[in-house]
Amino acid sequence: MKTLIVYAHPEPRSLNGSLKDLAVATLEAAGHEVRVSDLYAMNWKAAVDAADFGEHATSPLRVIPSSGAAFDAGTLTADVRAEQEKLLWADTVIFQFPMWWYTMPAILKGWVDRVFSFHFGYGVGVHDETHYGDRFGEGTLHGRRAILSVTVGGPESHYTDRGINGPIEDLLFPIHHGILYYPGLDVLPPFVLYGTDRITDGEFEDAAKRWTERLLSLETATPIAFRRQNFGDYEIPSLRLKEGLELPGRHGFGLHVRER
Ligand SMILES: Cc1cc2nc3c(=O)[nH]c(=O)nc-3n(C[C@H](O)[C@H](O)[C@H](O)COP(=O)(O)OP(=O)(O)OC[C@H]3O[C@@H](n4cnc5c(N)ncnc54)[C@H](O)[C@@H]3O)c2cc1C
Repeated sequence: MKTLIVYAHPEPRSLNGSLKDLAVATLEAAGHEVRVSDLYAMNWKAAVDAADFGEHATSPLRVIPSSGAAFDAGTLTADVRAEQEKLLWADTVIFQFPMWWYTMPAILKGWVDRVFSFHFGYGVGVHDETHYGDRFGEGTLHGRRAILSVTVGGPESHYTDRGINGPIEDLLFPIHHGILYYPGLDVLPPFVLYGTDRITDGEFEDAAKRWTERLLSLETATPIAFRRQNFGDYEIPSLRLKEGLELPGRHGFGLHVRER
């Protein structure tokens, strides 16, 4: 495998830092190539602005066309082009981050905002009566796999069906489906560690063992069975799931997963 680890934590000696280091060591020992984008160490610029697009920035700034024009011309900033090149190099992408306010840290969201540019992450492929662009199962990153490795402060019960935070699969759906599956990545079930603010050495050892097992099965793990957009499950252009295709009892985000 060629694995890119996108890592977002300000403290190298953090739990997230340890999990990232474990991933690098485990994958390299198994003979895989690994590259790491350590966003804090890179002082990653998280905010999109006109400087991202140089002479292709429209005035007033309209982000989508500016982003697409700069991408087409090969003149997006060097930091963004380097991350796009890493994504195209990789066959597997690991995102290592703590859950902050129900989602990823802002620096990582800013990585997505800037790296998944128009004509790279979105705005790809034709739109016609049967095909609504290359996305949700197709797109630039098709053929690659991704996995979230997330540490969470609250205990697991808070993230279950009746838990106060809502089910973890619902909280992660915007990342899994809206960010990763959208440009074509196959999304593996996440590795989630709960109750991480107070963990003992024994709990860390157990977590490290489970993460190692997941790392060594990344190539063979079955992705989440999200429905592909252009292959008959959705009406086009409304993009509503066709009547009768839902699994019994499925509603909300779960409608877009075709198997248990
Ligand atoms: C802004 C913000 C928003 C948040 N929002 C949410 C939220 O919405 N929902 C939620 O549930 N939680 C939330 N949290 C909590 C957050 O998810 C946890 O604090 C985080 O996941 C812990 O990861 P860390 O890498 O920062 O841990 P650290 O603070 O680095 O470590 C956590 C524990 O692991 C131990 N540890 C670290 N490394 C090792 C090692 N190598 N070996 C053994 N033990 C180790 C540490 O000693 C410590 O006890 C939020 C926190 C912040 C700061």
